Amino acid sequence: MSHAIDQYVPADLPSRIQHYIGGRSVDSVGGATFDVLDPVSNQVYVQAAAGTKADIDRAVAAARQAFTEGPWPGMLPRERSRVLHRIADIVESRDARLAELESFDSGLPITQALGQARRAAENFRFFADLVVAQADDTFKVPGRQINYVNRKPIGVAGLITPWNTPFMLESWKLGPALATGNTVVLKPAEFTPLSASLWAGIFEEAGLPEGVFNLVHGMGEEAGDALVKHPDVPLISFTGESRTGQLIFGNAAPYLKGLSMELGGKSPAVVFADADLDAAVDATIFGVFSLNGERCTAGSRILVQREIYEPFVERYAAQAKRVVVGYPHEESTEVGALVHPEHYDKVMSYIEIGRGEGRLVAGGGRAEGFEVGNFVAPTVFADVPPTARIFQEEIFGPVVTITPFEDDAEALALANDTRYGLAAYVWTNDLKRAHNFSQAVEAGMVWLNSNNVRDLRTPFGGVKASGLGHEGGYRSIDFYTDQQAVHITLGKVHNPTFGKVADAGPEQRGHGS
Ligand code: NAD
Repeated sequence: MSHAIDQYVPADLPSRIQHYIGGRSVDSVGGATFDVLDPVSNQVYVQAAAGTKADIDRAVAAARQAFTEGPWPGMLPRERSRVLHRIADIVESRDARLAELESFDSGLPITQALGQARRAAENFRFFADLVVAQADDTFKVPGRQINYVNRKPIGVAGLITPWNTPFMLESWKLGPALATGNTVVLKPAEFTPLSASLWAGIFEEAGLPEGVFNLVHGMGEEAGDALVKHPDVPLISFTGESRTGQLIFGNAAPYLKGLSMELGGKSPAVVFADADLDAAVDATIFGVFSLNGERCTAGSRILVQREIYEPFVERYAAQAKRVVVGYPHEESTEVGALVHPEHYDKVMSYIEIGRGEGRLVAGGGRAEGFEVGNFVAPTVFADVPPTARIFQEEIFGPVVTITPFEDDAEALALANDTRYGLAAYVWTNDLKRAHNFSQAVEAGMVWLNSNNVRDLRTPFGGVKASGLGHEGGYRSIDFYTDQQAVHITLGKVHNPTFGKVADAGPEQRGHGS
């Protein structure tokens, strides 16, 4: 089957994408713009404002003013919560349009983009609920002292986000940052600026005060860098590649900023011989090919116990070949187009590397029938040794490795044998093994006999090169707030008195001669 390029283009695309600063949509100070491509044709469909330090300075000044002079940080949690619920309502009511634009801009399959839009609404709703239920610690020392925590927003939060599920990942930071009373400057990913530019209208409609939300588009090395180095931005929440995280960590060090780092992954999916094989095959297929494989928690290294290894590989490869690659806007599409030709080239280069490192059992290049656009066939390499680059490095596309293991000890050694530690998936029906393995694996999050389904209250974060700190639930509230400790004396003042001996002459003080 060959697909002609009768490309789907959403109606009413914006004619340009601007920054949003202090309640106004504006161009860059210097007027610079950058090209935005759609991943199906790789044609430029719009120009976006390319922010520089001057734009970040303006955005931070607006956010700073809204923080020091505006009502937002001092509003009752219930009042802020109402605004956040309205934001969630609006996002929900526009989920189809959001998904349409996100899918067009990022290449994500439309059904999956729709799920992400709904999840974005849920993030706002969740933090709207959490801040009104927020209780802080009080410590009593009977008759003597009472101590309480005065929780305060910190100031201007800098939010830097990646291009995979952009709208949802932005909501994940915006929700808690705003719920707790901070003001923000968001620097979204340059590959996918379209959905981010919808926030301004949504926030205005929901009644968010002017200057609380600011948005600067642009390159990471320019706009992102200026945000990281701005002295009036005490917090940076970053999601992206581990090496960008390292750079930001260094750049933020002189300012001693609060940092939350959600970074890359190369997560193992471990299938023991006693597992429910039907569920394990379905889950490990979905685990790496959903969201085009552009998923930080993708189970991109499958480890399979030797007894079931060959039948597993055969079944897995057959199913991977049936995964439907298609145009992002089509309901039947399971894998769409990768975000950008640069990323496509990167994924394809790993496929070439993989040919020399493992046994190719499915896919292996451009998806059949698509002459243009960033379409990659779901690709499976079996017999991949842990020394292989495709075993060690994050590919961030629809490419998976399968490696055999003999016993629990070897499975654990293989699972832990990368620099990353974001997620791990374990498939077994042995209760003891399941828990022992989960607790020993070096991963911030483990799913046992489960795909990646996450309750919003649970901690999210990675270990090793996959991140620093945890977000999710009250941990996000902790990141975006200061917990000032206030101590009050109740009884007699506990005051060892110095300098009490009124007329102490030099002799009494022991200095006499
Ligand atoms: P990236 O690191 O290239 O870019 C992320 C953001 O950082 C972009 O907005 C970019 O413009 C900005 N940036 C780049 N250089 C910068 C600099 N020097 N200073 C400040 N900002 C800078 O990542 P990406 O390619 O957009 O996203 C894919 C990566 O994100 C993958 O590694 C993936 O695993 C990771 N990711 C992690 C999570 C998680 O929660 N752990 C979630 C999603 C994606």
